[in-house]
Amino acid sequence: MPELPEVETIRRQLAPHLQGRRIREAQILDPRWTRPEPPEAVAGGLRGRTVLEVGRSGKYLVWRLEGGPHLLVHLRMTGALLFDPPVDPPHTRVRFLLDGRHRLLYNDPRRFGTGHLVDSGAAARAYLDARLGVEPLTSEFTAARLRELARGRRAPVKSFILDQRRIAGVGNIYADEALHRARIHPLRPAGSLRPAQYDDLREAIDHALASGIDAKGATIDDFRHVDGARGSFQDRFAVHQREGLECPVCGTPIVKLVVGGRGTYVCERCQPRPRGLRRPAARAGDRPGPRQAAPESRR
Ligand SMILES: [Zn+2]
Repeated sequence: MPELPEVETIRRQLAPHLQGRRIREAQILDPRWTRPEPPEAVAGGLRGRTVLEVGRSGKYLVWRLEGGPHLLVHLRMTGALLFDPPVDPPHTRVRFLLDGRHRLLYNDPRRFGTGHLVDSGAAARAYLDARLGVEPLTSEFTAARLRELARGRRAPVKSFILDQRRIAGVGNIYADEALHRARIHPLRPAGSLRPAQYDDLREAIDHALASGIDAKGATIDDFRHVDGARGSFQDRFAVHQREGLECPVCGTPIVKLVVGGRGTYVCERCQPRPRGLRRPAARAGDRPGPRQAAPESRR
């Protein structure tokens, strides 16, 4: 799933192509993209408008259009925006026909992505503020703010940093990488960190996201650049999707846990388990399974 660095990569690549261009026509082929708005209403609102600016807020791309409307695009699981592809990919959901005979296609195999058109900058801000917390890599993202957001929270710190209404833009990859860098176990209750650890966590989240942007995102499934190329941050993962491989810091094999329903990768030497959770969660309450029959006893 595209996270902040992947969406920021798209924004940086898209902005020079889109800014100053007019949308001749938006062909919305999948009505799910604009739900609950009818696609004709959104297509009508886009027709003939020039894109003035392509911004980003959390994982949303924010297109500021001539005359005031804003289009808020979320790629969700598998959405991609492709500029002037040679052929239409098989899961094209929206075709933006631009002036200069350019085309921007929105492709999305799983169809969870959305396009939401609002009529003003204030409406866009209200929509985003209702859904997104503090934005990393800005001056508002401080250790004090993190500590305040986490105060009293018993939920695992990993679930806390994945909550878009608290911190915008962090997903599963960057949460795992940031917690490893900050040497914090993902099961630690969010409100239980020592004061210095909120500093470490703030620094580690910004560092992971900035490294991801520097590598033009991570492609572990469908993420593609606007020209179809792949990101390279997956080559720099310290822990994410590296179960059984050595921690690059201490050499301990990385283990996979499930935290808040998400596959979570951790070095339990660098990131010590919180007190009271000493035993691996996956083994707690396990009973020995039925012994496997020896091959010769099968006949
Ligand atoms: Zn380690």
